[in-house]
Amino acid sequence: MREKNILQILRDSRYTVVLTGSGMMVESGYPLLRDGDESYEIEKKYGYSFEEIFSSGFYSARKELFFRFYKEVILKAAEVPPGKGFLMLKKLQDHGLVDAVITRRIAGLEDRAGCRNVINMKGTVFDNVCPSCGRHYPAEYVRDSKGVPLCEQCLVALRPQVCLIGEMIDNGIMTRAAGEVEKADVLLVLGASLNTPLCSQMLQYYSGTNLILVTGSEHYTDQRADFIVYGRCDDFLERLAEECEN
Ligand SMILES: [Zn+2]
Repeated sequence: MREKNILQILRDSRYTVVLTGSGMMVESGYPLLRDGDESYEIEKKYGYSFEEIFSSGFYSARKELFFRFYKEVILKAAEVPPGKGFLMLKKLQDHGLVDAVITRRIAGLEDRAGCRNVINMKGTVFDNVCPSCGRHYPAEYVRDSKGVPLCEQCLVALRPQVCLIGEMIDNGIMTRAAGEVEKADVLLVLGASLNTPLCSQMLQYYSGTNLILVTGSEHYTDQRADFIVYGRCDDFLERLAEECEN
């Protein structure tokens, strides 16, 4: 499948939704905290696995250690700026080829690249709320606080507005994401296999005509896609953006 043909599909599409997966993050230089080598280092350093420590139970019971881990690992990782893939995605959106972007990643790379109509299904680290008064705080406030970040007014521990392990995705967000996918003629999946939670959740709402998948590795579930492009998402998006300008 030549990029030129894919570009034509995008141009003919009435509504195109993009799903961005962890492959896009890895291309930006973002560490894979849960599955990569990092997970071993995390367990060694904190005495708990990523799954244990980044959970709502741990947040409730062990706030000191939760926030040490959160600042040193989660916020640190989120300092990685959006790479070429995300910037090219924004470019395609500027060309009117992308209507909505949906992700389960919490580093807000799509927003920071300037993409519009982004649905962060699990929230982002950039929003933190006082559970008592509802005041919002930026990530910097959490990062710079000593120990557990507290609300200035209530002195209550803040809650990062992200979905921790074991928590359900917010109903309102889920409905919004499902609504976008239902509207889509074209669904463009970037850097995720179709069996990942993001795709399997969203595909049940999809009844469009062209499911396009860009992925670095083969997986048998991917055969459901109408078009598969093997390789890097950022290079693919860059070729599309260049093609747009011709
Ligand atoms: Zn408060």
